[in-house]
Amino acid sequence: GIYHSLVKLSGKNLIPTRPDLDTASLVLSHFPHAHQVTDKKPAFIDASTNQSISYGELRSSVYALASGLFRGFGVRKGDVVFVLSPNSILYPTICLAVISIGAILTTANPLNTESEIAKQVKDSGAKLAISVPEELEKLTPTGIPVILTTCSSNGQMVSVKEIIEGCSDNNPQELPKVNLAQSDTAAILYSSGTTGLSKGVVLTHANLISIMKLMMWSTEVSSSQDDVFLGFIPMFHIYGLMFFALGLLCMGVTSVIMQKFDFKTMLEAIQKHRVNNLPAVPPVILALVKYGSKAGFDLSSLRRVGSGAAPLSKELSDEFRKMFPWVELRQGYGLTESCGGGTFFASNEDAKARPGSCGRLLPTFCAKVVDVETGKPLAPRKEGELWLKSPTIMKAYLGNMEATAATLDSEGWLKTGDLAFVDEDGFVYVLERIKELIKHNGYQVAPAELESVLLSHPNIVDAAVIPVEDEETGQIPMAYIVRAAGSELTEDQVIQFVASQVAPYKKIRRVSFIDVIPRSAAGKILRKNLVSSTKHLLLSK
Ligand code: AMP
Repeated sequence: GIYHSLVKLSGKNLIPTRPDLDTASLVLSHFPHAHQVTDKKPAFIDASTNQSISYGELRSSVYALASGLFRGFGVRKGDVVFVLSPNSILYPTICLAVISIGAILTTANPLNTESEIAKQVKDSGAKLAISVPEELEKLTPTGIPVILTTCSSNGQMVSVKEIIEGCSDNNPQELPKVNLAQSDTAAILYSSGTTGLSKGVVLTHANLISIMKLMMWSTEVSSSQDDVFLGFIPMFHIYGLMFFALGLLCMGVTSVIMQKFDFKTMLEAIQKHRVNNLPAVPPVILALVKYGSKAGFDLSSLRRVGSGAAPLSKELSDEFRKMFPWVELRQGYGLTESCGGGTFFASNEDAKARPGSCGRLLPTFCAKVVDVETGKPLAPRKEGELWLKSPTIMKAYLGNMEATAATLDSEGWLKTGDLAFVDEDGFVYVLERIKELIKHNGYQVAPAELESVLLSHPNIVDAAVIPVEDEETGQIPMAYIVRAAGSELTEDQVIQFVASQVAPYKKIRRVSFIDVIPRSAAGKILRKNLVSSTKHLLLSK
């Protein structure tokens, strides 16, 4: 009942197993040498300003920033540093500098609200923040010191740029000496997992190093050092972090970085920089199918588009292949809890032959598909919950033994909360989510969080939030509400009430009033019942 990866890593990808090896040293020294990347080669180019950072500059900036944080700011091993920024060519430098001195990186979506950010600062125990000037206001109430990425208009605060320039004068040639073990925590990323509120996913250096090996393997089987990648996938999320701040640097490719997703900017950047690799999400692939060929940009350089973070339907992948016959489309699957890894297509032929599949297990991964009720492993083609095991699987949820025990079993299996089956040839098909999680444009929306906001309204007695399938964005959050007796609360008022308290991507976009929320004897919301009655409701409209 256990599926093993059918591929083994080649010698080149076998990382040294020294227990004291840390992620940043590996990215900066070991891997680029292996690929003979010259110091002058651009590592990152800013899509809007054209500014770039070469591999050599990246290395010296990381050394300088690490040394500045260590000596000037007293950042020590185990200190948590909160990075709040959209994508930028500086983002990878910041991440690498933080983890290189044994500090722990925690990241968040800059769209998050002040209270969402305050919660994460508190939960992660962050001691210091690094933020863009535009988001500074959201951090001020937390009281933790903040370093800006670039200078503020009044020039009163220290910036990452100044630290790097200041330290460059005495030109540190190496990282501050810190005793680091692979078992030390490197990052805490947030995910709501299978149920409840957002939790800190504790990832160790061993986890990050393992995912880098896999990234190197996967890019090796499908790309070359001359590739140009485009990065709009956010680096605060594991998908963007593992590609742009870690994995691709090991491959020695150039990445063009976009602050955030914008369809026209993306097309312009592809044309201008002759981008050939595009890690993407299904809504972007849909937009390419709908408007890509009519927009008047030259997309002939594109060779490979990846899809992850949410399901890519067979229909959409077929349409994409018809419209862009020169482009390979490959789906991958992973979770924050597995450091982004899981399944992948090593060949375009396989991907073409199996639309709807997310590919095969990555090297080092094992999987089980288990009966949702009994937990018993199932045979090929039988649908059940997907469980994963690999060196990339998180250590725990931060300070939450109960959630950890519910997600990681005693043998180290990660219960993904995804319904899947595996075919006879080892290809994995992820069918639907059995966990509560809603994904809107690839971003996580936790129903439990929206329900607690809704319940804080004086005229709401009970509430349940469920996903409604949506062609453009994947899913939208819908609320079922029980109003207080006599209340005339309207759909619009509910939507506004939530919108004023949560990040824009978490907004409730549909409301239905109901007499009672269906619950189990133990008081758990019967979400499945609501989801299926919603389907009937929408079909009959
Ligand atoms: P996150 O931790 O934000 O990366 O979310 C992980 C979840 O996204 C998975 O458990 C799946 O529910 C979903 N997901 C990621 N990739 C895929 C995919 N290729 N197909 C279907 N669902 C996916």
